[in-house]
Amino acid sequence: MVRMNRRYFLKLVALSTCGYIGYTKLIAEQDAKAVYKVDESLCINCGICMSVCEAGAITLGKKHASIDMSKCISCGKCKDACPKEAIYETSS
Ligand code: SF4
Ligand code: SF4
Repeated sequence: MVRMNRRYFLKLVALSTCGYIGYTKLIAEQDAKAVYKVDESLCINCGICMSVCEAGAITLGKKHASIDMSKCISCGKCKDACPKEAIYETSS
């Protein structure tokens, strides 16, 4: 039977731990959902964002649009479509 020396074993444990941490960090980053918000001072309530949102996450209020993040799928279409650049992305 092959015996593993202590130094080699510790190196192996350290490498495995680093790999695991890196992997879980990568998965967490991939799962992080982009959050979109409306800058109320720029919004002119035109409704274009609402018409392009396939998730039905946008509603128009009396003065500006609002995004319901529980419905939003973070596609970014509203941000691209807004003529006033009133929609911006933030990290979750
Ligand atoms: S497209 Fe832009 S300006 Fe128009 S309602 Fe949406 S956020 Fe407001
Ligand atoms: S990012 Fe996509 S799903 Fe979310 S509000 Fe904008 S258009 Fe709708």
